[in-house]
Amino acid sequence: MKEEEIKGILELLASPKKIAIIPHRSPDGDAMGSTLGLYHFLKKLNHEPIVIAPNEFPDFLAWLPSSEKVLIFEKDKENIAKILNESELIFTLDFNALHRTGEMENVLNKLKAPFIMIDHHQKPDDYALYRYSDTNFGSTCEMIYNFITFLGYKELLDKTIATCLYTGIVTDSGSFRFPSTTSMTHRVVAELLDIGVQNGDIHNSLFDNNSYHRLQLLGRALQNMKVLPEYKTSYIKLTQQELDEFHYVKGDTEGIVNYGLTISGIIFTAIFIENKDEGIIKISFRSQGNFDVNQFARDYFNGGGHINAAGGKSTLSLEETVKQFESILSKQNFNV
Ligand code: 5GP
Ligand code: MN
Repeated sequence: MKEEEIKGILELLASPKKIAIIPHRSPDGDAMGSTLGLYHFLKKLNHEPIVIAPNEFPDFLAWLPSSEKVLIFEKDKENIAKILNESELIFTLDFNALHRTGEMENVLNKLKAPFIMIDHHQKPDDYALYRYSDTNFGSTCEMIYNFITFLGYKELLDKTIATCLYTGIVTDSGSFRFPSTTSMTHRVVAELLDIGVQNGDIHNSLFDNNSYHRLQLLGRALQNMKVLPEYKTSYIKLTQQELDEFHYVKGDTEGIVNYGLTISGIIFTAIFIENKDEGIIKISFRSQGNFDVNQFARDYFNGGGHINAAGGKSTLSLEETVKQFESILSKQNFNV
């Protein structure tokens, strides 16, 4: 961030304010960790922050400090629109365009208060007064650590803030294995541990909380996997009927897409999940190396994300979506 941007933000934060902090729709560990980490930081500066998520966050994040105070826009649109209208400053974290908040976009578009964007996705939109956007970071949480440091408030970092930030760093880095994990990431994490983060407990809360049904659903998903060696590609599909059969709850399909890349020789994988409520097929893409799934998701499936992890959607049926996917594969260059 530039010197004058930091100065401008410090001026905005100089007097106590009502501040709304917003993650993207279907918030993940990084979205929840960054918004709650910033929430606890702003509270320490005597502001009145509130985290407003467009829709429900998964249960495996419900232990994050103050997650019970997060407002869910979809549950109470009118009152929350009022709170947003009364906010004097808006932070949008872990997304690059207001449409990533779904229906909430219509409210956000009309707000007069200044926006601050902190994000690590490609091609950020231009709605924010201050934009800290950098695709070199593996997580927004790592950027929040920097943000707090740039503002000169590093000494305010405490175990609560550090716990939130550690969570997003772990989840968005695939437990420190994705290429975006740098020596800086590990240095930041080392500091968070020094502050008192219980890393073992966090991993436990995040990853060792499966229900029996979730594991059965994972078993079905793996059996549904199709491998296309000629395209170095694999994919999984799950119907709404299968989700119902295994008593699906939000978060149950998180991470399943990654199994497709664990097959030797596979560099591109996808998962197609039918959502009858929303009338869409939600898609996640993952790749290894230079195959750019952000571009792929933008070009064909109304989505985006990062080079090696992206998402999108389709309004065709599940079968038609998968057929379209297979036909697009023949046009791709997999010798990257
Ligand atoms: P996931 O597959 O885990 O939902 O998302 C992977 C990455 O792609 C995340 O950074 C996420 O924010 C982004 N992403 C997921 N779905 C969409 C989408 O529909 N549109 C855009 N632009 N990005 C998405
Ligand atoms: Mn993220």
